[in-house]
Amino acid sequence: MEKQRKSGHLVLVMVPFQGHITPMLQLATILHSKGFSITIVHPELNSPNPSDHPEIAFVSIQDKLTKSQFSLKDVASLTLILNRNCAAPLQQCITNILHSYDHIAAVVYDTLMFCAQTIADNLSLPGITLRTCSATTLLLFPVFPQLDEKDFISEIESPELQVLELERFRALLSQNPTEAVMESRFAFTNAVRSSSAIIVNSMEFLEQEALSKVKQYFPAPIFTIGPIHKLAPKVYSSLLTEDDKCISWLDKQSPESVIYVSFGSIASIDKQELIEVAWGLANSKQPFLWVVRPDSVRGLDWNEPLQNGFQESVGERGCIVKWTPQKEVLAHISVGGFWSHGGWNSTIESICEGVPMICKPFFGDQHLNSSYICKVWKIGLELHELERGNIERTIRRLMVDMEGNEIRTRAMDLKEKAALSLMERGSSSCSLHDLTNQISSV
Ligand code: UDP
Repeated sequence: MEKQRKSGHLVLVMVPFQGHITPMLQLATILHSKGFSITIVHPELNSPNPSDHPEIAFVSIQDKLTKSQFSLKDVASLTLILNRNCAAPLQQCITNILHSYDHIAAVVYDTLMFCAQTIADNLSLPGITLRTCSATTLLLFPVFPQLDEKDFISEIESPELQVLELERFRALLSQNPTEAVMESRFAFTNAVRSSSAIIVNSMEFLEQEALSKVKQYFPAPIFTIGPIHKLAPKVYSSLLTEDDKCISWLDKQSPESVIYVSFGSIASIDKQELIEVAWGLANSKQPFLWVVRPDSVRGLDWNEPLQNGFQESVGERGCIVKWTPQKEVLAHISVGGFWSHGGWNSTIESICEGVPMICKPFFGDQHLNSSYICKVWKIGLELHELERGNIERTIRRLMVDMEGNEIRTRAMDLKEKAALSLMERGSSSCSLHDLTNQISSV
């Protein structure tokens, strides 16, 4: 066990999803570099590899999650099960750490592991929540318990949120939430309300209006320290093996010519949709790098349907892999567009590299992020239907037409603003400084 360092000891509590593991590990390395010693407590499922992070101590707790529970597409139910199963072992684990170190400066937990706030309260420790989605998603919480559409729209009155059409809003919040969904929203809201600080992987300039609203709804100070991956040293956090051959393939392509396609770590499509995406990409005549995860085509072995003539017809113009080093891909000079599901990490990573986007959201906050990308920041195009003609046209609008140039210019503008927020007096650097001061002063 690493000795407690000068700034104190922190316990970080992780949830087992790729899009949450990465920012939590990045936050851990940042806080370690600021003088804190760190223990990460995580469920057994999708455990990080401790040998990739020698400066951090890892403790796993029993999650009792079955495979069928984990493959639930209902994230709210899964979150509830996770919290119910982990609460007792987590309390025991943090109590043990407290005995070993005498003092814990704070318990920093992923907002999805809301039971950690109650445990921190029980042990009289400050609980700090890390929201790995946009700050705007925090605005959805205060009205969750009595939510209906009219309440929501009039309660929030945020012009930024008004860009969400009702249809999107329904998709995001689900019209008839189950009891599990209601319970998990309620617990979630209470945790954020009781926390001593809220950390968000975002930037002040990106969500200014929403952030000022968040401050009205939650008493705790909010620290926007994004893009976290640019403040952290490179952290290896992939659950799947990154295939580096895509980088040597990118090296052979012309600048800004490649459309990169990835739907993140959870979203899946069916066989017909896979075929439509394939032929849409082929017919667009643009070079493409496409991530097809092993479990991403429902009921099928990896890219089996693409064996019939597709690969021969695109030849060297297409590169299909199971997983990429995405941040490196987005920073590559050959990449000129990112067709994404609109996950928050992917959104932030794309903004940081000035890459314009095509958005095809699947569930949850992806709808909200896509609305922001396409309607508020205007750095992307929406794609509704996975149909080959539609896909071909949307790719060409972004990669070839004048319309794409304007979108690219706006994306480059956001890239510059993101870089400014990371500079010494930039908003994210200052926010990180304030956060570490707050933790140390408790
Ligand atoms: N990612 C990656 N390689 C891939 C696809 C995705 O490294 O081939 C990473 C990506 O950089 C991001 C994360 O996986 O950090 C996906 O998170 P996001 O919030 O975008 O979507 P989610 O997987 O949570 O739906």
